[in-house]
Amino acid sequence: MINRRLIVVICLTVALICTGYFLFNYTNLRNAITQPLNKSHSDFLPKPIQPGNESLYDITLKMDPNGTFHVHSSISITNTSANSWSELVFYFILNMFTKSNSPNLDEPAKIIIDKISIDGTDAKFTLEKDKLNVLMKEKLEPKQVVVVEVIYQFTLPEGGLRFNKSNGNFYLAQWYPMIATYREGWNKNDFLFKGESYHTAFSNVKIEYDIPKNFTIVTTSEEDLYPSKSQGKIEARNVKEFFIAILADHKIIEKELGDINIRVFSVDNKKDISEIIDIAYASLEYFQKTIGPYPYKQLDIVLDESGMEYPGIVTANSINKNSSISSDALKRMVVHEIAHQWFYGMISNDPFTDAWLDEGLAELATGMFYSDYSDETLAFEEERYVDLPFPVNLPLDKYTKNQSSYIYGKSTSMLWKVFEKNGGKSTAKDYLKKYFETYQYKEVDTKEFIRFLKYYLNITDDSLFSSWLVLDEKALLPISNKNTLP
Ligand SMILES: [Zn+2]
Repeated sequence: MINRRLIVVICLTVALICTGYFLFNYTNLRNAITQPLNKSHSDFLPKPIQPGNESLYDITLKMDPNGTFHVHSSISITNTSANSWSELVFYFILNMFTKSNSPNLDEPAKIIIDKISIDGTDAKFTLEKDKLNVLMKEKLEPKQVVVVEVIYQFTLPEGGLRFNKSNGNFYLAQWYPMIATYREGWNKNDFLFKGESYHTAFSNVKIEYDIPKNFTIVTTSEEDLYPSKSQGKIEARNVKEFFIAILADHKIIEKELGDINIRVFSVDNKKDISEIIDIAYASLEYFQKTIGPYPYKQLDIVLDESGMEYPGIVTANSINKNSSISSDALKRMVVHEIAHQWFYGMISNDPFTDAWLDEGLAELATGMFYSDYSDETLAFEEERYVDLPFPVNLPLDKYTKNQSSYIYGKSTSMLWKVFEKNGGKSTAKDYLKKYFETYQYKEVDTKEFIRFLKYYLNITDDSLFSSWLVLDEKALLPISNKNTLP
């Protein structure tokens, strides 16, 4: 006689094995659909864009009580390109806000350059708009190093863009000479009052400052403490630029996320900033988990000025100065600027030629954060943008209108469509992590970005991209020669 209990045990065992086998296969099948890159990406060789030089900045900044700043900037520059140079090209963006370049400002900036020298010897230079050319007496050969000193004074304009003063607060954005990158020649485009027309490499910056006692200094560096000292030496490493806010009256909230101190400053004492620090905390935590670690021990959010990202610090209050935004829009702006700490702050792209890369990825990451935070379906407004006729990766000066609809809107919608067809949000999340691992502290352009994306998604043709990106530089030429895109 067969033992009934034994039959039951055998049947249950067989059923369990079958279920396990089915689940195992189902999981594998699902992974195969939603996670295109199961292979290691170690066989992918990134080809980052080279900056053509390496630079170290050592700057002293002294502010007089009347708002005049005195700067002694010393920049050590190594030629890492293959060419010899007869000049050095710097952005000197503060010069865009003087009376001659911004005649409509009520109070323009005043700038006096006292002296420029190369390795201690006076150098000839020209300054036109935001382009400072310093002439070499002898050519700078590849691998050679020079130290350029620029001694100058400035006052800030009222009504400037980013470089600005308002209500007794001073915002020092792009306030020192920043060496341009070098490709086959100097990569310096004309300044634009819309978008970010400057591009720099990662550098280390040391600042020694001296400000009047009644002000608070908040900067890119993680070393500025609160309450701040009126004199100090601070430093930031691997940064594309160094931003300084010098605030009069303000309020502050701080909150720690692990060993990172998040600080929200508001120059409006009536503003409720508790919701801002909560969303900053949640998004920083999310981006660290989803993309990779934030690199500093401090993240500052200054609630004033238009929304803008800088390493270690962001500003947010309005889209442009004359309009105020809702509290939800302000929170979303803060999240977007924090996302830039990865896409701009750690993975670089030229915002003149490839603005869609850091803006599109910051928007994608912001959308992903909100979809998890508020438990919403992830969606972008494709219908609004999909029919816009031009690609999203044209140089900024080719968009004479609708620039933001291309750079922020169409770029994110079309990129999201690519992920939607390839596994959706889980693929997009995994992609951002792999992209960050591959390109941290490197520079990408559209071509390199798509090369990695195609590799990751196991795509060989360009059909998912050709309707919204120009992938062949030659195809860009006829468009570039026209100046009349909408
Ligand atoms: Zn942005």
